[in-house]
Amino acid sequence: MFNSTASAALTTLYDGTDFSQLTWAEKQWAAWYIWIDNPVIATGLASFLLHEIVYFGRSIPWIIIDSMPYFRKWKLQPTKVPTAAEQWECTKQVLFSHFTIELPAIWLFHPVAEAIGMTTYQVPLPALKTMIPQIFLFFVFEDFFHFVAHQALHTPLLYKHIHKLHHKYSAPFGLAAEYAHPAEVFILGAGTICGPLLWCYFTQNLHIFTVYVWIVLRLFQAIDAHSGYDFPWSLQHIIPFWSGADHHDFHHMAFTNNFSTSFRWWDHIFGTDDKYTAYKKKTAAMKAKGFTKEQWAAMEQELLDEVEKEGAIAEQAVVDKADKQKVKAA
Ligand SMILES: [Zn+2]
Ligand SMILES: [Zn+2]
Repeated sequence: MFNSTASAALTTLYDGTDFSQLTWAEKQWAAWYIWIDNPVIATGLASFLLHEIVYFGRSIPWIIIDSMPYFRKWKLQPTKVPTAAEQWECTKQVLFSHFTIELPAIWLFHPVAEAIGMTTYQVPLPALKTMIPQIFLFFVFEDFFHFVAHQALHTPLLYKHIHKLHHKYSAPFGLAAEYAHPAEVFILGAGTICGPLLWCYFTQNLHIFTVYVWIVLRLFQAIDAHSGYDFPWSLQHIIPFWSGADHHDFHHMAFTNNFSTSFRWWDHIFGTDDKYTAYKKKTAAMKAKGFTKEQWAAMEQELLDEVEKEGAIAEQAVVDKADKQKVKAA
């Protein structure tokens, strides 16, 4: 595979590289860049394909779970199961935005990455002990960025013109993770990309492979948070400060609380989880009283309806405020 003299990349990018010292994964990495023979296209294509494969690949299990009534007992809003038509509608919108907004933006990634000193085609790939702390930092950065930017998106004008689209589904599902206005994709996407860019700019120590692992984990986080299911084995039951679907599903239902993505701490510190905490207390108290399954389901539904109704009123108030601001400005 590496004997081909047709590839300019082999001589320009990998001149002097001892391929016998590389792992299988590193050989595949180099083979990709040699095969495409143009680092900008190789990175752009890999980034786009990775995003598509992981986004839809991770969403498929949730589509299957939604089609199986057995899993309904773990659904956070059990009466709101997305229909096939709703999921297809959402898929079309997401695909449209991937090809028109994300594809051109992803194409810029290689030149920008190289300009700030990120390693891309280079082998060997970074060691796990290098990658883990970097990825943890990206998680913390993104979570705080999102906590602030997401609240900004809930101010009247930004909500009405941008973020309202993402709130179309008060009971979200995996595919709806990136169902959002193009401006929102850019604003919130900055939280995912700027962490690695800043880190690289200041340390000059980052391989794009680490960024890919981060993006895969971030996609899993976003899709799972929108899945609508909380299983006894969900990550939030293992790591108590992990947000998970339980946390973000409430944001879609109640519209006000829980603005962060991965971790619960900022919402807790700033008190933007007060309604969520009260709701959890109520449901826990109901569970402790030992109601029958049917009684429990009816009461839980009543609570859900109440919170959702409040959410709808709060959402309308924000939209009305935006309209008033517009009239004033005119
Ligand atoms: Zn929101
Ligand atoms: Zn959401």
